[in-house]
Amino acid sequence: MAGKVYLIGAGPGAADLITVRGMRLLQQADVVLFDALVQPEMLGYCTQAERVDVGKRCNLASTQQRFINKMLVDAANKHALVVRLKGGDPMLFGRAQEELNALDEAGIEYEIVPGVTAALAASAGAGVSLTSRGVARNVLFATARVGQGEDPTDWVRPVVAADTAVLYMGVKQAAEVAAALLAGGMPASTPLLIVENAGLPNAREWPLTLADLPVAANWQLAGPAILMIGEVYRAKLALDKPIAMGRQA
Ligand code: SAH
Repeated sequence: MAGKVYLIGAGPGAADLITVRGMRLLQQADVVLFDALVQPEMLGYCTQAERVDVGKRCNLASTQQRFINKMLVDAANKHALVVRLKGGDPMLFGRAQEELNALDEAGIEYEIVPGVTAALAASAGAGVSLTSRGVARNVLFATARVGQGEDPTDWVRPVVAADTAVLYMGVKQAAEVAAALLAGGMPASTPLLIVENAGLPNAREWPLTLADLPVAANWQLAGPAILMIGEVYRAKLALDKPIAMGRQA
């Protein structure tokens, strides 16, 4: 009899931003496979479990992903309660579908426990609503990162059209992202907000305009960062925080 796998969203990092359900399952787990974005403090909930760092960053090669899929299936064949712990929400930019497909193929039972995704933690920290009457009626979660063989500019049109857009994994490619958005017709004066370590005590944010976005590519950010785009962030620009802050990381 194979065990059951729980795909659990760890939330953005802080140990008290996982759901109660997720925490309880961690406390009962036999084995926990966790990602690079999962903070060490969270693993304090599962000291009884075998904890396996699958050391995955978002730009993971597909062969490594296949290896993780296999590890999950193997773990479920050996243990009753297997946890796959992923940063944020497991169903957003976390390669969850590939893992679920592998579990389906192996006939292994699973359940998903949602988590607070980075965009929501960043909004809470920034104190700016993703939606706002008369300003923003829709929100897009997107990434500029595309897989092999995909059109590298596919993401641009919906981001330009969105009232508020949140770009995951886009800060390191800030220069390319800025060029693509300008080419796609987004005004250079569009307000942006970069948030690093959202949801953690060391969170930092930098308001800037699309025209200034390329400078962010040179920032040596220590933690994960997310790019928020839209009119709702215009008030932040007036706060006049120096863009150079990003270089102190
Ligand atoms: N499943 C995760 C996203 C994984 S993709 C979620 O729902 O949040 C990894 C990207 O998420 C990072 O490159 C970064 O853009 C963003 N991210 C994850 N955690 C973050 C955090 N604490 N602060 C800012 N961005 C974060």
